[in-house]
Amino acid sequence: MGSHFFDGATPKRHDIEPDIGPEGIAFETERGALAWRHEDLIRLWDYRPQEHLAFTHRRHQDSRLIIEEAWAVEAIGRQAPQLLERGRERWRHTGIAAGLSLGVLTLIAGLYFFVPPVTDRLARAMPWSFEAVDRPELDKLALMIGKRCAAEEPNRILRGLVEDLLKTAAFPHPITVDVTSSKMVNALTFAGGRIVLLRGLIDKARSPNELAAVIGHEIGHVVHRDHTERWMRENALSAASVLLFGFDGTNTIGQTVFETGLSLSYSRGSEQDADRYALRLLNRLDLDPAGGAEFFERMRGKGDLSGLLPGYLSTHPDSDGRAVFFREQGTGTKQALSPEDWLILKRICDKTD
Ligand SMILES: [Zn+2]
Repeated sequence: MGSHFFDGATPKRHDIEPDIGPEGIAFETERGALAWRHEDLIRLWDYRPQEHLAFTHRRHQDSRLIIEEAWAVEAIGRQAPQLLERGRERWRHTGIAAGLSLGVLTLIAGLYFFVPPVTDRLARAMPWSFEAVDRPELDKLALMIGKRCAAEEPNRILRGLVEDLLKTAAFPHPITVDVTSSKMVNALTFAGGRIVLLRGLIDKARSPNELAAVIGHEIGHVVHRDHTERWMRENALSAASVLLFGFDGTNTIGQTVFETGLSLSYSRGSEQDADRYALRLLNRLDLDPAGGAEFFERMRGKGDLSGLLPGYLSTHPDSDGRAVFFREQGTGTKQALSPEDWLILKRICDKTD
């Protein structure tokens, strides 16, 4: 009888005389002296008889330290009471966990509120060359959203419309607008001033001004450098999440929170800015803004669930408010294209690359 130790490598029982101090338990075996710190001890609560204390070590979990003498148990109770009271140990862990979660929540909230305004300013200060480079992920995405619609006459008309809008925008870098054959109703802006309209959007648009409003909105995203902003925001957030949760690339709850909350769309502020920008372009060209308003009204309640990419509504929330905004703030009266040209433009996907 008496305190003893198993090293986990051999079945040999080492009888020991524990020396219990404020830092840990020291003991001698035939093979040498060991000192286990209290914080490294894991109590084996199911060990019987229960008046004996059984421990293993955090880093040597095959080993066993059994304390049997009443004086030694008492000494441990004085030096490291958490090893004797199960409730107390649990409470301590719950307390730490609660504190940690609160800290993490505060940080997440902080990132949501404080990172976007900072990255927004940073993005607008970045030189254009930063985003006007080839990015391989763009090619991958382009394949996903269909072939480029290449019918010549319709493309000429589209270019004319885009040029009118761009002249008004006076943005010093090139912006391209292409249509791809995807049936989804959406418009996307990529790095380097690349705007892609999906065919579904052209099909659903009922007037050239609806199209002009959407293109104006996407030009707004380019001019405001929203693509770069989102990229920075996501990278700031993933950098922070690696710090917080210690993951890299593996899917965890924390990461999912970041990705679903922030990745799919631009920030609400960016969307409103892009709308204001589009309306300014329409007003300067004296284009009737009802087109924009009607498009957003019709899109209301129609998500596009058919494709891999989220539909216009999920990436552009609050269609109601946007329709009102265009109707109330618009001053123009004209149509962006003649009815004939509009009909021709609609056939832009008759030929694809
Ligand atoms: Zn947008």
